[in-house]
Amino acid sequence: MMEVLILGAGYAGLRALRELQLHHDIKITLVDRNNYHYEATNLHEVAAGTQPAEAITYPIEEVVNHKCTHFVQGEVEKILPEKQLVRLSDGQELSYDYLIVALGFESESFGIEGVTEYCLKMDDVDSAEAIQHHLHAMMIKYQETNNPEYLKIIVAGAGFTGTELLGALLDAREKLAETAKVNPNQIEIFCVDSGKQYLPMFSEKLSAYGMKHLEERGVKFFRPKRIQAVTDGVVTCDDGTELTAKTIIWTTGVSGSHVIKDSGFSAKRNRIAVKANLTDPDDDKIYFVGDVAFVVDDTTGKPYPTTAQLSLKMGQYAAKDILAKAAGKKQAPFVFHSLGTVASIGNTDALGIVGPAEVKGYPASFIKKAIMDRSLMETGGVKEMLSKGRADFYH
Ligand SMILES: Cc1cc2nc3c(=O)[nH]c(=O)nc-3n(C[C@H](O)[C@H](O)[C@H](O)COP(=O)(O)OP(=O)(O)OC[C@H]3O[C@@H](n4cnc5c(N)ncnc54)[C@H](O)[C@@H]3O)c2cc1C
Repeated sequence: MMEVLILGAGYAGLRALRELQLHHDIKITLVDRNNYHYEATNLHEVAAGTQPAEAITYPIEEVVNHKCTHFVQGEVEKILPEKQLVRLSDGQELSYDYLIVALGFESESFGIEGVTEYCLKMDDVDSAEAIQHHLHAMMIKYQETNNPEYLKIIVAGAGFTGTELLGALLDAREKLAETAKVNPNQIEIFCVDSGKQYLPMFSEKLSAYGMKHLEERGVKFFRPKRIQAVTDGVVTCDDGTELTAKTIIWTTGVSGSHVIKDSGFSAKRNRIAVKANLTDPDDDKIYFVGDVAFVVDDTTGKPYPTTAQLSLKMGQYAAKDILAKAAGKKQAPFVFHSLGTVASIGNTDALGIVGPAEVKGYPASFIKKAIMDRSLMETGGVKEMLSKGRADFYH
């Protein structure tokens, strides 16, 4: 019986699993370091404390069909293509006929001094919860010391993730202020970014709307400014600007999983430039999907931005491609049509593009939640949608 090994139970991995589980004549093994799936697209809400982790997670076992799938909780250490094996950190080795690598993203420090030591990252549920706990602790510290540095938050990076985090932090300000026993306006939120245009994936008009909205609610932008170094509580830019805060959150960009580099694959920022059917250029048995893959959009000549939407489609495609191969057939090359790109700037506001139309404000936030719910539906199905009460968008 054909053995398919899936690494990672994120968007791409679980979408592949759901597709393969429709065919019981396959032996599937799924590996993840956690026993739960998390919606990475909502990590900023957990970091800010506007959502508990339980609202964006569900047990992986709930989507595993034990008739054909075996779930292994473990840390993937290395892929050994020449032996068709994957090694876990506990020494276990798992074999495969086909491998789907869906290990997702990690924060990228771009080698900037002090980032790893002094910045908080938002890569997964544990790191998002660590931000939430840190913010709470800083509010308590303020009460004890009256030192305003404890009330300051710096977000490094004003891309999609940084923007969504800024919106959530503004939403969280009242609750944080209650803990610190201050006026919400005393909690200062700064954002440093090097880009010429804020949110360059959108039109200048739409970007200006987002920035104005965040500024009006209290974010102070420092841009375009390139961060040169970070020390304990200090961000230094290359024009000499120094910003201080007891909380510095790093959201300047991501790369693919370090397992790619550790396994010796040739990649750029741990992303493999895959073939048209999403396989490794040197190995037809290994598929790279989601944030560990790099695919160029033929219509624009640019790589598709790494998103949950793209990951879901890649996961589904890889599973179908394996099934087609098993049946002696060939699939058409992978193509992706985005449903739209919408960034939230708080719980009830957003901005983005849906088809040819620009959307903003409350309607955009509604569309954003609909897109997120579709992703939940595609990994967890109706059961998870209902258990998360997602039909009610603004409960
Ligand atoms: C705050 C934020 C907001 C975002 N908003 C949007 C949005 O609005 N729309 C959108 O489309 N995209 C958004 N994204 C991007 C999106 O979340 C990613 O593109 C998507 O999560 C990638 O999916 P994936 O399946 O490749 O990997 P992931 O979702 O990262 O899943 C990877 C899985 O692999 C597991 N794993 C990783 N390493 C190991 C290991 N060594 N051993 C075992 N298991 C491992 C992890 O536990 C995880 O379950 C956002 C991202 C962030 C951080």
